Amino acid sequence: MSENLLDCLVVGAGPAGLTAATYLARFRRHILLADAGASRARWIPASHNCPGFPFGVAGNELLARFRLQADTYGVPQVRTRIIRLERFDGGFIASDGARHWQARTVVLATGVVDRLPAIEGLEQAIANGTVRLCAVCDAYEARDEVIGVLAPAQAAIGHAAFLRTFSRHVFALAADDSPWNEAAQQQARDCGIQLWPGPQRLELIDGACLARSAEGRRLRLDTLYPVLGADAQSDLAAALGASLDHEGALAVDDHLQTSVPGLYAIGDVVSALNQISVAVGHAAIAATAVHRRLPENYC
Ligand SMILES: Cc1cc2nc3c(=O)[nH]c(=O)nc-3n(C[C@H](O)[C@H](O)[C@H](O)COP(=O)(O)OP(=O)(O)OC[C@H]3O[C@@H](n4cnc5c(N)ncnc54)[C@H](O)[C@@H]3O)c2cc1C
Repeated sequence: MSENLLDCLVVGAGPAGLTAATYLARFRRHILLADAGASRARWIPASHNCPGFPFGVAGNELLARFRLQADTYGVPQVRTRIIRLERFDGGFIASDGARHWQARTVVLATGVVDRLPAIEGLEQAIANGTVRLCAVCDAYEARDEVIGVLAPAQAAIGHAAFLRTFSRHVFALAADDSPWNEAAQQQARDCGIQLWPGPQRLELIDGACLARSAEGRRLRLDTLYPVLGADAQSDLAAALGASLDHEGALAVDDHLQTSVPGLYAIGDVVSALNQISVAVGHAAIAATAVHRRLPENYC
């Protein structure tokens, strides 16, 4: 066991964790940033709603800038996955299976993992914008295109309705084979959404997505939005009894503290809007709250 008690262990180095680590280092705290290296932001071909980047920024470039800022203030980083978090009198013990770290407080910035459809070439399609994963982020870029929203039938119309702000040509594609009842069909008519029953076969061809229905009908989409949910990486906190919402995201108070004292959560793993600006806002609030709860570090 390390003798070296950390003020704070930050788990996860996406926008949330890197920002929290930068704040804590600038508060002259003794911290460590542990990261498994799979930020959701790496998928972003170009973000156009990230404050301060009027001409857009690629996710990997943005992450590199966040990392450089953390490096500038000497944030120690370790590439590993924390697999266990336990309590002890003075705080928490984290383990990656081989090593242990003790920390007075922990900030979880572990994000979510998207549930993706099985489509060959998906990664490239995300890179070129044929498949998009976040309508709040980039529906503006898909305006006036033929857009398909792939989701469980009962949820698909609601998600498709969001896209109607951006295009007249929006299809709700059922990811399952449950039928739409008359009320759902009426809702779709009211919103100007076309229904495309499942199950689907989806292929990527020439920069477009081709959907084939069970009866063999074909639909060419400029953009596909799969909305199949995401798994919040909240297991470490859940094992300590932290409260979760109905989707497994962490419930937090106004200072981003979970229901476990000393355990904070920020970014996508929290029950909130999954956006970079939200993640960095969470980080600022949580890091400041952590600094205030720790013993004074007067110079
Ligand atoms: C295709 C796409 C486009 C997007 N476009 C935009 C956009 O334009 N604008 C916008 O605001 N947002 C956008 N987003 C959303 C944005 O990427 C997320 O909101 C943001 O990355 C959340 O940051 P985070 O730090 O909470 O989580 P992440 O960036 O996901 O980082 C979490 C980190 O924690 C690590 N981790 C998880 N568990 C552990 C563990 N047990 N131990 C150690 N490390 C762990 C992961 O490996 C990862 O590195 C987009 C997302 C996608 C997928």
